[in-house]
Amino acid sequence: MYLKRELSDSLVAFYGLHFPFKRLSKSSLRYEVTLGVGGNVGDVKRRFEHLFFLLRFERRVEVVRTSLILKNPPFGYTQQDDFFNSIIILKTSMQAKAFLAYLMRIEKKFGRRRSFANAPRTLDLDIIFFDNRVIKTENLTVPHPSWYKRESVVIPLAGVSI
Ligand code: ATP
Ligand code: CA
Ligand code: CA
Repeated sequence: MYLKRELSDSLVAFYGLHFPFKRLSKSSLRYEVTLGVGGNVGDVKRRFEHLFFLLRFERRVEVVRTSLILKNPPFGYTQQDDFFNSIIILKTSMQAKAFLAYLMRIEKKFGRRRSFANAPRTLDLDIIFFDNRVIKTENLTVPHPSWYKRESVVIPLAGVSI
C-alpha cells in the first residue's frame, strides 16, 4: 500500500513500507554513502522494497535512512515510461571501488541490461556522495556529476538530509 501525493503536473510522491525509513540505532560502519536509486521497467516500487531487504541482510552495509519515492518524467531519451527514484543513505565498510562493483552486481541481479545512454532500466544504482570524498577515476566520479540538476535526486534528497 502506498500513500500518493501529487506534487505538480509531472511529479508524484509515494510513501510506502520502507520508503521513507529511519534507522533507530547508531551505525558503526566506516563510510557514509548517499545512493541514488531509480528504475522505470516493471514494478519498480516493489523492487525498491526487495533492494531494501537485500541491503539489510548485507553485513558490510547498514541502511541509515531512505527517502520517499518520486515518480518523474524521463530525461535524455523521453520516449519511455516515467521513472521512480529514491535516495538511500547507508553506511558501509567497503571502499568506493568495491562498493561500486557491489552495486553493479545488484543491478545485474535485478535484470539490468546496458543498451544505450538513458535507456529504460529495471534498476539503476548511482553513488551520489561517498563520505564527502572527491573521486575521479575512469569508472567512478564522485560526487555524481550533475546530481544537483536532477529533480530525481534533489527532491528525495531534500527530505533525508535534514
Ligand atoms: P548517469 O550516470 O548520467 O545517471 P546512468 O546511470 O544511466 O547515467 P550507467 O549506464 O548506469 O549510467 O553507468 C555507466 C557507468 O558510470 C558505470 O559503468 C560506472 O562505472 C560509471 N560511474 C561513474 N561514476 C559513477 C557513480 N558515481 N555511481 C555509479 N556509477 C558511476
Ligand atoms: Ca543514473
Ligand atoms: Ca548508473
